[in-house]
Amino acid sequence: MKKRQAKLKAEYMKEAEELFDELIAWDKNTPEPDMAQIEEIVLTLRKRMGKRMAETLLARQEKGQPAERVHCPECEKEMENKGQKANDVETRAGDLKIERSYYYCPRCRRGFFPLR
Ligand SMILES: [Zn+2]
Repeated sequence: MKKRQAKLKAEYMKEAEELFDELIAWDKNTPEPDMAQIEEIVLTLRKRMGKRMAETLLARQEKGQPAERVHCPECEKEMENKGQKANDVETRAGDLKIERSYYYCPRCRRGFFPLR
């Protein structure tokens, strides 16, 4: 668990470092920016950091989801855990790409990624 957290932190810090480097590079390449340009770059970089924060929280949530039984919302029978699958999720923090447990109901032929 600690190891996973350290890995998440390393990924997070790498992103923060890249964003800082980009910010400084932008500053060097943009002599005398006006307020609108500053707002633009800050919002762009902030959006990426927000995405990373959301992905970090979702990854931590996934860890707290052991081989838990998930029941089909349609027929209420137990669903099959199909393992980790990449999932694109559209959120207010941006489009997130996350690995989550995927469950499938062979009776109803439907699958989903439960949040806890
Ligand atoms: Zn079902």
